[in-house]
Amino acid sequence: MVLTNARVIDGTGGPPLESASVHIEHGRIVSVVSSEGEPSPAGALDVEGRTVMPGLIDAHAHLSSDISRSPGFGPPPALKGELPRPRELGYFVLAKTARVLLAAGVTSIRDVGSYDDEAIALREAVQLGIVEGPRILSCGRIISATAPGGAIFTTMYREADGVDDMRRAVREQLRRGADFVKLMATGARSVLAEDPEPAQMTAAELEAIVDEAHRLGVRVAAHVEGLGGARLAVEAGVDTIEHGLSLHRDAALLDAMARAGIVLVPTLSTFHDLAERFTDKFAPALVEQAKRQLEEAYATLAAARAAGVTLAMGHDSGPPGDNAIELVRMIDGGLSSLEGISAATRGSAQALGLPDVGTVAPGAVADLLVIDGDPLADVRVLLQPEKIRMVIQGGETVVSRA
Ligand SMILES: [Zn+2]
Repeated sequence: MVLTNARVIDGTGGPPLESASVHIEHGRIVSVVSSEGEPSPAGALDVEGRTVMPGLIDAHAHLSSDISRSPGFGPPPALKGELPRPRELGYFVLAKTARVLLAAGVTSIRDVGSYDDEAIALREAVQLGIVEGPRILSCGRIISATAPGGAIFTTMYREADGVDDMRRAVREQLRRGADFVKLMATGARSVLAEDPEPAQMTAAELEAIVDEAHRLGVRVAAHVEGLGGARLAVEAGVDTIEHGLSLHRDAALLDAMARAGIVLVPTLSTFHDLAERFTDKFAPALVEQAKRQLEEAYATLAAARAAGVTLAMGHDSGPPGDNAIELVRMIDGGLSSLEGISAATRGSAQALGLPDVGTVAPGAVADLLVIDGDPLADVRVLLQPEKIRMVIQGGETVVSRA
């Protein structure tokens, strides 16, 4: 496959290449060269006026079919008098989610917590070609200290206490088929009985998880809200910080993240959800807390950018397919369009630990979007599915609105 006359945004943050040809063979990009004045090779697809960029990568998602987390997920709740909705409906919702994500240009996604093993089941369904969907990485269950959140999130969590139990919890996730490990370094903003400020695990517990995961070759994502947990997580050597909204209060910690290559996934959208969108769904004290956290999250985005921390796009919201709103918000928060797009592509690929995706470069997996228009001029084109004319996944055209 050859795409000619494209404006190419390569995901690395460099300026776009005009009138370029992208050659794809056996699922990978072979070359990206100027096609200015060259005759189009036979069979090439002329995409004049359109932009070719890497597929979007969502580094923080909850694919779970359960509706309790965020309106927009899962089957609609039964009305009074209707039979209860069968649990199995959730799997059809997951299949639909996978297709919707792909149609919205999301070619890879990292699930950081679902009920039971739903994300792993969906990953298998996609890999087997039963449903079309993005490449999925799953953490299995989230490793948390015994905490109030466990009573709310039930089978999304594996509660563990003490270093041996932490190691066992990591091993259990790999036994389930997890691709990486997610831990709760602090409490969660969505749980009234948890204070998100202090560390929820001890340094020794965090270190045990990171040691076990890294020795076995998988990465570690840390849910971090307050600074206490942020410090322990960075010192323990986690690979990604999720949310991390307090980091603007400690410049040295951001510097340490930049030096160590720890990626920040700011998840601005989730703070908008709690502070603005679902104010009638959450306890009033949590809504008030989220208003403060929303401001902190934007302050941290700016401080992390200034410190040179690698940023990734994590929507952490719904409905599926609206993921690029997080990219829009990162740009509203001070990133340039180019920086935002590289966060949503190469930055996120770095968060996932997938060096082969997230760029338009020779050797990279051909996960590409063909966009009607120029997302550098108006990134909101990525929110309009009809503008995403093609989604190419591993060299195969999986969505075509040509
Ligand atoms: Zn989340």
